[in-house]
Amino acid sequence: MAVTDLSELEREALELALEARGHARFHAGQIFQWLYRRGVTDPAAMTDLSRQLRDTLAAAFRVSTPALLAREKSVDGTEKFLLRLGDGKTIESVFIPDTPAMTFCISTQVGCAMACAFCLTGKMGLARNLTAGEIVGQVRLLANVLDLRDTSFNIVLMGMGEPLHNYDETMKALRILADRNGFGVAPRRITLSTVGLLPQLERLASEPVMPNLAISLHAPTDAQRGELVPINKRYGVADVIAACRRFPLKRRSRITFEYVLLAGVNDRPEDARRLAKLLAGVKSKVNLIPLNAAAGIPFDRPADAAVNRFGQILAQHGLTVSVRKSRGRDIRAACGQLIVEGQRKSAGQQLAGVI
Ligand code: SAH
Repeated sequence: MAVTDLSELEREALELALEARGHARFHAGQIFQWLYRRGVTDPAAMTDLSRQLRDTLAAAFRVSTPALLAREKSVDGTEKFLLRLGDGKTIESVFIPDTPAMTFCISTQVGCAMACAFCLTGKMGLARNLTAGEIVGQVRLLANVLDLRDTSFNIVLMGMGEPLHNYDETMKALRILADRNGFGVAPRRITLSTVGLLPQLERLASEPVMPNLAISLHAPTDAQRGELVPINKRYGVADVIAACRRFPLKRRSRITFEYVLLAGVNDRPEDARRLAKLLAGVKSKVNLIPLNAAAGIPFDRPADAAVNRFGQILAQHGLTVSVRKSRGRDIRAACGQLIVEGQRKSAGQQLAGVI
């Protein structure tokens, strides 16, 4: 039989693989504990398994883990990790301490096809999807390096890529992360951020492991949003909001609407009033993200006064508002700043394949 990559297996698949090789299913739980809770990948070190099972694991299985290429720490404690995948492609993951919990910001794709006008990752185009093992592998690596395997941490799918554009592998990764024998990350500790790909959003509504939802809205009208988020031409503002209204939410939970503020573009009082009207009656909270500016991004960050005024108008209309702190800007680890050189493709061409 071919060598199987353990990092790609959900626990049930591992149970079946063990059974096919003559071992009892329950060992899958033990192996998950070694891999995820104790950060051990060498079967020889899995001391509560029989000699025979350890031999089987060494011969028929392997565990791929992204390799750590570089690590940079911001003055605010945020850390950015550059990781190399099995095929040599590279991605970035970010650790954000005390938010108030520990948060891992992880990637779901190498690059991104969405080409949002203000996002550096969008400039790369899409190189490829990550596998579930590569998505979870980022968490394994960060938890090991930072020695946080036994701490409860949050995960935000806000690194490189559009998670709903890599739907199946992303959902599989969430199931592996949630497994009680593995990291046991509760779904309420996971936030999936998306531009709002509607068919996948509908599917998400019936998933067993349902993360918190954040929608990258960024503008209240199709005319404005179409300029910033090209996929809006396919899935417009009204349809995205209608899907959000239908989305099944647990009691007390709400959808986060992310709104990148761009000076003079979408930060005017009338934009705030339109946004408030659009979200009236939606169980929502608005997360304002003053632009993290970068060379090659044709927009400016608004002054703090404009950010505050925008937030106040929303609050006056009864919305819950927060302003996202830019963490790790000095090391280009903040939102929209993750970019890996040397694997660019034309984002425009990539997007044409999606819409
Ligand atoms: N593809 C997902 C995850 C993106 S990252 C999505 O679009 O939701 C998380 C957030 O950072 C998104 O809301 C994204 O629009 C925002 N972002 C991208 N570039 C940014 C920048 N330069 N400054 C501030 N926020 C940015």
